[in-house]
Amino acid sequence: MKRLHQIVSELLASGKAKLVIGYEKGTGEKRRPAFISDANEVERLVFDSQCSHNLSVYLTKPEYKHVTEIAVFATPQTMRAVVRLAGENQFQDKKLSFIVMDQDQNALLIEGAEVLANHLGKEKIALSSAQEELLAKFEAMSREERFAYWKEQLSNCVKCYACRAACPMCYCTRCTVEVNQPQWISVPSSLQGNFEYHIMRAMHMAGRCVDCGSCEAACPLGLPLNIITRRMIKDIEASLGPDIVSMDTKSVLNTFQPNDKENFIR
Ligand code: SF4
Ligand code: SF4
Repeated sequence: MKRLHQIVSELLASGKAKLVIGYEKGTGEKRRPAFISDANEVERLVFDSQCSHNLSVYLTKPEYKHVTEIAVFATPQTMRAVVRLAGENQFQDKKLSFIVMDQDQNALLIEGAEVLANHLGKEKIALSSAQEELLAKFEAMSREERFAYWKEQLSNCVKCYACRAACPMCYCTRCTVEVNQPQWISVPSSLQGNFEYHIMRAMHMAGRCVDCGSCEAACPLGLPLNIITRRMIKDIEASLGPDIVSMDTKSVLNTFQPNDKENFIR
């Protein structure tokens, strides 16, 4: 931790970071986000395999939007989100630094999203065997079975929107779910309204989801939300090629080529 604390102290002392978003010890073995702007507090910071929150989500929150010099502790999931957010021009007025861990668990300082994109390379998120199993089980279902599965799962959703709050790619200042003129999506938790919310969320994530798993981890009911986005990533890869997160990757629903296939139009 000595090198980690030294990097953070230097960033704060030099003014390269006015705010450091990292991790500190939480309850038991858990880690929680920590927000540090005073060099005297760096000893609170930890960065180990227990650190899992995708801290990039805070970079677009109204509370921190006005801070231009920020340093963030970045796991591979956080790096992927930062690179995609940078590709969506979310950091134009920011000077960002990143603290990452190398293979030997040494802290490294990376300055700027472009340098981070090079560091990330073509790294993908590996699925756990349980996740692979669930996805395979889902893919083996018939269309009717899949519909029944989602009816059962989504009937439990209480519309707390924790999945939206935890997602780094959900950064609109006003979400469709809060628009009531017209009311696109019903407010109470009902099966139809829950389907509407999750279909809207899936469409907004098409080609943008970085597979960080934060939405599923945030759901108090443990709904398997990542099946939707992972399946979408697979479909997009099958049609448009590998899902490589880079600053040049365009959102699939925002781009077209004149020679795109149109055989879905009848
Ligand atoms: S939809 Fe879920 S997995 Fe995808 S970027 Fe958002 S939080 Fe991460
Ligand atoms: S976090 Fe879970 S319960 Fe809350 S809105 Fe999302 S899916 Fe529904």
